[in-house]
Amino acid sequence: MPEIHLPNINFSCTNCGNCCLSYGIPIFENEYENINFMARELKIPTFKLSLNQSKSSKNVSAKYILGLSKNDPCVFLDQARLCNIHKQYGEKHKPKICQLFPYSFTKTPNGYYVYLSFASSAVLYNYGQPLKLQNLDSKLADFEEIYPDLNLNWQNCYIVDGVKLDFSKYLKIESEIMVMLNDTTIDLARKLLACNEFIFRLNFQDTLLIPDILKGIDEHYIDNLIIKYFHNLVFKNEYQYDLPIEDFLRDLVNPQKPVMDITDVKLSVAINEKIDTDRVEETLIRYIYCRIFGKLYFGPGFNNLSFVAGLYHLILIILIVKLEFQLAIRSINYNIPDANDIFSILVEIVRNTERKFTMLSYSRQTIAMLEVLLTCPKRINRLIKKIMIN
Ligand code: SF4
Repeated sequence: MPEIHLPNINFSCTNCGNCCLSYGIPIFENEYENINFMARELKIPTFKLSLNQSKSSKNVSAKYILGLSKNDPCVFLDQARLCNIHKQYGEKHKPKICQLFPYSFTKTPNGYYVYLSFASSAVLYNYGQPLKLQNLDSKLADFEEIYPDLNLNWQNCYIVDGVKLDFSKYLKIESEIMVMLNDTTIDLARKLLACNEFIFRLNFQDTLLIPDILKGIDEHYIDNLIIKYFHNLVFKNEYQYDLPIEDFLRDLVNPQKPVMDITDVKLSVAINEKIDTDRVEETLIRYIYCRIFGKLYFGPGFNNLSFVAGLYHLILIILIVKLEFQLAIRSINYNIPDANDIFSILVEIVRNTERKFTMLSYSRQTIAMLEVLLTCPKRINRLIKKIMIN
């Protein structure tokens, strides 16, 4: 049985078609004939499968459909952004992965945990039936059919690099963090600061080694460098999924090179008044909450980062989302849109972030750098205050 106690998380498909735009859709061996048949029946001339592109599973051979070139929508998506397969043959004939989306599951020693992708519009807007009222058995069965060999190893989890973390102990830490995230009396910045304070009290600092190379480098310079590189990675370089670590390290040890203070993005009072802050914060909190609940931010759930580095990496991504949001609305300051328009800007930023987050694949050097530079409560404290608290 999947774990489904995700409070206040809803989803029902709105047929927006947004999920059919950017992902490669894996087709499995046993679906191929049927999909091919429907493509012929629907007279989709552009339909073609590129064979054996995926090695994602040992037992099933996945192939991809989408548009003819990388940025095209799926060939089955019609002008009204509806799936032709769904329309003509019913949901059960769609590729398995389309039936599953936006649900996914993380297998842990404590059972399965559900996750909803924030690339979906309904998830972003928290639209539909509460997850706790949904029967997820068939979704989980689909997931297991698609990923029969997916066994995540939670034995080798670390609280920080080199210090083992037992999964049951992790669950206790996670439940404390969830309480802070669910505290309705404080805003997002205070929630993150409270989480950081809690992490600080875990007392791992003595186990950390600060390499000599970092001694003497101004901390604010390092802060800005981290923000600049991650901001570029998530928002500027569409097909880049790792930090250009050699460039980063070169800039790190050449602090005479000025870094723009990218965290200093002030908004005018006029535009600040137009932002529906509660709605923006609710979306970001829900995103953090779901990532943590789904365990998709550390250990085998994300690049095998230690728990602290993974949590700080997640906070860093949220800070960068906030920064990008501020940059985006500041750039349209001359023509102030209404609160709904502003919110839809945030939605697209979170959607793109989710797509990128899912694809990030860090090298060993990047992971080592994150373990050293991010595992620093003071740095996270500074960054939260600088970006979140104007
Ligand atoms: S097959 Fe249908 S649901 Fe799947 S990506 Fe294509 S249009 Fe979307």
